[in-house]
Amino acid sequence: MTDPATITTPTPTVADSPEIPLLEVVDLKKHFPIKKGLLSRGSGKVFAVDGISFHINQGETLGLVGESGCGKSTVGRTVLRLLDPTAGSIRLNGRDITHLSKTEMRPVRREMQIIFQDPYSSLNPRMSAGDIVEEMLSVHGIGTAAERKKRVAGLFDRVGLRKAQMNSFPHEFSGGQRQRIGIARALALNPKVIIGDEPVSALDVSIQAQVINLLMDLQAEFNLSYLFIAHDLAVVEHISHRIAVMYLGKIVEYTDKKTLFTNPQHPYTEALLSAVPIPDPTIRRKKTILQGDVPSPITPPPGCHFHTRCPYAEERCKIEEPPLKAYGPGHMVSCHLR
Ligand code: SF4
Repeated sequence: MTDPATITTPTPTVADSPEIPLLEVVDLKKHFPIKKGLLSRGSGKVFAVDGISFHINQGETLGLVGESGCGKSTVGRTVLRLLDPTAGSIRLNGRDITHLSKTEMRPVRREMQIIFQDPYSSLNPRMSAGDIVEEMLSVHGIGTAAERKKRVAGLFDRVGLRKAQMNSFPHEFSGGQRQRIGIARALALNPKVIIGDEPVSALDVSIQAQVINLLMDLQAEFNLSYLFIAHDLAVVEHISHRIAVMYLGKIVEYTDKKTLFTNPQHPYTEALLSAVPIPDPTIRRKKTILQGDVPSPITPPPGCHFHTRCPYAEERCKIEEPPLKAYGPGHMVSCHLR
C-alpha cells in the first residue's frame, strides 16, 4: 500500500461542523424546454426535477432511488452544476453555489466529483489510465509532473489497481477495473462530496459488491459524503445511511435506511421493496407488481403523480397533489393515506 500521506486530507473548516449539512439542496427544479419548428419556439417542458429538497452530512451517504426516467441523474448533474437549475438552491459547506459562474465554480468542482454509470464511455479510449487520472490534477494546476505521477500511483494502489496498469488503456481493463479508474479519477482532487450516478449498475453482481465495499472503505478513510444514485433499492441498501425515493421528478419518501426497509409508508417504496430479495427463506414480503411505465415527465398526471399505477389510489389522488410531510422523526412521506 502507498503511504496515505500522498493523498492530502482536506483541512476541516468551521462549516464542516455537523450542524451545517455539507450539501443542502432546497426546492430544486430542473425543467427542460421543448423546442419545435424552425423558430425553435417553446412548446412545453420536461419536468425532470420538480422541487426536491435533501441534505447530506459529512461522512454520510444518501441513496437516491427510482426507476429510469424519474429524474435522479438530472438531480446529480444539477447539484454538480453541470446543468443550470431552473429554481431552488444548492449549498455546499454553507455556501450558496446555485448561481456561481463557470469561473467561480472551478474551485468548487474540486470539492464535488462524479462517478459515472458506464466507466467505458466515460474514459477517453486514447489516453492511458494513468493520464486519465493525472489530467484531473493538471487541469487544476496541481503539482509538478513528478508529483502528479506519484499521486496517481498512490491512487491506483488505493483503489486496488497495480501501478504498472497506469500505462494501460481503458480497453485493456475489465468493467470493474474501469470503474476503479473512475473512482481514482474522482478521488484525485480530494473532494468532499462524490456523486455516484448508478456507479455499479453496469457491473456483475459480484463486482458490484467489491466496488461498493471499496467506496465504503474510502468513505471511512477520507470522511467522504456520497449521493449514491441507483434504480434498485438492493444496491443502495448496503452503502446508504438515509434513502430518498424519487418518482417522476419528486421525492415521495425520505428517511433513514432501517426505517425505509422495515416500515415503508409510500406505496411506491413498498413496490420497489417487494423486488428486493430477502436472504432468509422463512421471511416473505408482500409482492407488489407495478403496472405500466413511469408516465412522461412532459405531461405528468395531475394530483398524485403516482395515481396511475398506485393500487390504493382514490378519487382525491387524481385531483389533489399530496405534500411531502413528516410521518415520524426524520421520515417524510407524500401520500394522502399517511
Ligand atoms: Fe397512492 Fe393516493 Fe398515496 Fe398517491 S396519494 S401514493 S395515489 S394512495
